[in-house]
Amino acid sequence: MCRDGTSQRIRWKSEVSETDRKRVYLDYAATTPLDADVLEAMRPYLSDVFGNANSLYREGREAHAALEEARGSLARVLGAKRSNEVIFTSGGTESDNAALLGMAVAGAEGNSRNRVIVSSFEHHAVLECAPTLARLGYRVDRIAPRADGFIHPDDLTAVLDEDVVLVSIMHANNEIGTVQPVAELARRSHEVGALFHTDAVQAFGKVGLDLEESGVDAASFSAHKVYGPKGTGALYLRRRTPFRTQMRGGGQEATRRSGTQNVAGAVGFAKAAEIAAAGREVEMARERTLRDRLVFLLPEVSDRIHLTVDPMDGVEPSQSDLYLPNLVSFCIEGLESETTLLFCDEAGFAVSGGSACASRSLEPSHVLLAIGMDRDLAFGSLRVSLGRATTMEDIDAFAETLSSLLSRPVLS
Ligand code: PLP
Repeated sequence: MCRDGTSQRIRWKSEVSETDRKRVYLDYAATTPLDADVLEAMRPYLSDVFGNANSLYREGREAHAALEEARGSLARVLGAKRSNEVIFTSGGTESDNAALLGMAVAGAEGNSRNRVIVSSFEHHAVLECAPTLARLGYRVDRIAPRADGFIHPDDLTAVLDEDVVLVSIMHANNEIGTVQPVAELARRSHEVGALFHTDAVQAFGKVGLDLEESGVDAASFSAHKVYGPKGTGALYLRRRTPFRTQMRGGGQEATRRSGTQNVAGAVGFAKAAEIAAAGREVEMARERTLRDRLVFLLPEVSDRIHLTVDPMDGVEPSQSDLYLPNLVSFCIEGLESETTLLFCDEAGFAVSGGSACASRSLEPSHVLLAIGMDRDLAFGSLRVSLGRATTMEDIDAFAETLSSLLSRPVLS
């Protein structure tokens, strides 16, 4: 609408209006739409049941009951032994910050440990904690993944010593989809008495992980990656894990995260997690089939397309959990991500040029550089991530679109 109330018809260059066009969303790793059942579960806590979960009167007790039920349900889905091992936060970023700073500070109390190890292809929510840790007197060392996109446990062992207080290595990488052997990495960290945290934001709902069994001390989660609400997340903190909160105030979440709780968000996250876990095997098998189709089609489209990692190369069905089943990362030689992304957008497809947060950056992705990718090629990176609404037709149409882009005389 224009300011004078008349509607203005916006035209695409190709003379088809944006609204006429079927949009195909292929960026589920950036965020997902809210599940209708999740919205229904949240609705009462956005209206009638509005009490502060810490108030003692009836409205507060109702909100508190819902919050604790959500906590119990999420703990069960995550495989936590006790519900009080789950702390609600505002999302993955806060959980990562809380874990890195809170565990490093508490873990070093009464001893001389002063090193923190993170992988060099972590999300910025982990990497950007380094300057603060350095100011607090910690040395932050980065461990690189190998060219295959995995952190090999022996490479971690090689840099571990008794000075290390905390190791943080993500469960699944958000740009290339490789799934790290976190249980083994946690075990190696514990051998030298270090704590282990994993950013499980992308892996949760796609790859199985029983927190109690895995041995990890802490893990970060985010609701909006699993069809839950934005601005809600959780930090799993195994019982007796040293932790000093960085969020001080009213002492909510058993003094580990002050601030009035987002009851609707917690209820929504628990519901989204329940739905994701219940349907995981069937839906991930479906999305894996679509992913494999795209992986098959891309080299057919053009020999200028290079898969960043090949989730099908030599992978036995029993190893299907080595890669996220819904993500394909590739680079197009001689074509910048932004050009491809905008062309795809105009053709009706939402895809990412790497991760959501890096996509406005002029630098190539730190993840691709970490796995040793050629810098020029890394400028042409694209990430396609599939979800519940993706169909085989969408995949074929997307491949067609890329094909038409790459066969343009000016670009080929
Ligand atoms: N960690 C990873 C691996 C992510 O992919 C993201 C989001 O893209 C985050 C952390 C941040 O999560 P949130 O958006 O909930 O702050």
